[in-house]
Amino acid sequence: MAEPEQPGKALVLASGNAGKLRELAAILVPLGWKVSGQSDWGVTGAVEDGLSFIENALIKARHASKNTGLPALGDDSGLVVDALNGAPGIYSARFAGADADDQANNLKLLRKLNGVPPEGRTAHFYCAMALVRHPDDPSPLLATGAWHGVITDTPAGVGGFGYDPLFWIPNEGCTSAELTAEKKNRLSHRGRALAQMLEQLAEF
Ligand code: IMP
Repeated sequence: MAEPEQPGKALVLASGNAGKLRELAAILVPLGWKVSGQSDWGVTGAVEDGLSFIENALIKARHASKNTGLPALGDDSGLVVDALNGAPGIYSARFAGADADDQANNLKLLRKLNGVPPEGRTAHFYCAMALVRHPDDPSPLLATGAWHGVITDTPAGVGGFGYDPLFWIPNEGCTSAELTAEKKNRLSHRGRALAQMLEQLAEF
C-alpha cells in the first residue's frame, strides 16, 4: 500500500478490513491512484446508522474524507434473503450478535430458513460503493452490484468468507465458497460494483 503522504490522485479507502484494502489497492494503484487505508491516518470506523447499503457506504466515505481531508471511497455489502424480508441485509456481519463470527451467522441463517423449500430460498448479495471528493460532496460517485443465488441447507466449500458456503449459484452448480477467488471477483456483487465505479473513476 502507498504511503499516505504521497502526492497525486490520492484516495482514502474507508475500511479497516485488510483483505478488502489489499483487493482494492491491487486494482486502483496500477491505474495511478495513491491509495491509503483510513487507519493509515488514524481514522477509526464510522457509526453505520443508515438503513440501506448505499447510505452506509456514503456515511463511511464522508467520515473518512472529513477526517483526512482527502477524497474517500466507502463500501457496504451483505446478504439479502427474500424469505426473511431482506434480512440479514445491512446487519449481515452481526446477524447472530455484535461479536458473531461467520459460523454463528450461518447457523442462524439456516435456523431461520428451516423448513423453507428450495424455491423459497432465493437471495442476493449486494454491494454499494460511494466516492466523495470532499466530506460535503453533493454529487458523490455511486455504484452498486447484485449477485443472485439460493441459500442451501448444507454448507459447501472452504473459499471466500461470510455466507459463501451457503450461497448456491445455479449457473455455476456450486456455492460461492467453491469458486476460485478470481472467478468470484468476476461474478460477485463487489466485482460488479467495482467495475461500475472504475468506469466513473476514469472520468474523475
Ligand atoms: P462489509 O461489506 O464488510 O460490511 O460486509 C458485511 C458482511 O456481509 C460480511 O461480514 C459478510 O457476513 C457478508 N458478506 C459481504 N460480502 C460477502 C461475500 O462476498 N461473501 C459472503 N459474505 C459476504
